[in-house]
Amino acid sequence: MEAGFPEALKRAIRALALLPGLGEKSATRLALYLVSHPERAEELSRALGELPRIRLCRECGNFTEEDLCSLCQDPQRDPSVLCVVEDPAALAVIESAGVFRGRYHVLHGLLSPRDGLGPEELRLPELLSRIKQNGIREVLLGLSPTAAGEATSAYILELLKDYPVRVTRLACGLALGMEVRYADPLTLKRALTYREVLR
Ligand SMILES: [Zn+2]
Repeated sequence: MEAGFPEALKRAIRALALLPGLGEKSATRLALYLVSHPERAEELSRALGELPRIRLCRECGNFTEEDLCSLCQDPQRDPSVLCVVEDPAALAVIESAGVFRGRYHVLHGLLSPRDGLGPEELRLPELLSRIKQNGIREVLLGLSPTAAGEATSAYILELLKDYPVRVTRLACGLALGMEVRYADPLTLKRALTYREVLR
């Protein structure tokens, strides 16, 4: 398919084809589009070039360009309530519901023994040290009600049993098997407002 294309174009096609969801055909189509829209190619290349600057917030594990993310820096947010989420995508969706005013803790995964994801792979030690050091009074489990989400919630509930914190989770509204990141804002708003007390 690449025969006769210049090297730079071939390189772009190969790089695009490595992205999830893009085969060689769509990679070629995108690369050819960018060749005929050089201003888009420049813009994309600038935006992508800045991505390696992004790292994990030292406190909550959200994506950030600084040491602390904007949510951890916000003095208006209640530092004594932590919402535990699977990943930054789930955080963004919960945040956009505009109801939760505490801080977050991003696990970067859910327990999944089949995929080799045990408690050591998640940011659970960081969660415990935040609870020990920062006077946390409530941990809201904002995990998806999928099998892995439920297993992770149960594990954290057990982990926190000797800590003086209230453990709650997202309540009614979220259908079983649904992922938090795909929930609509109204459903999430309700789930955040009427959260279920677990302990
Ligand atoms: Zn943060």
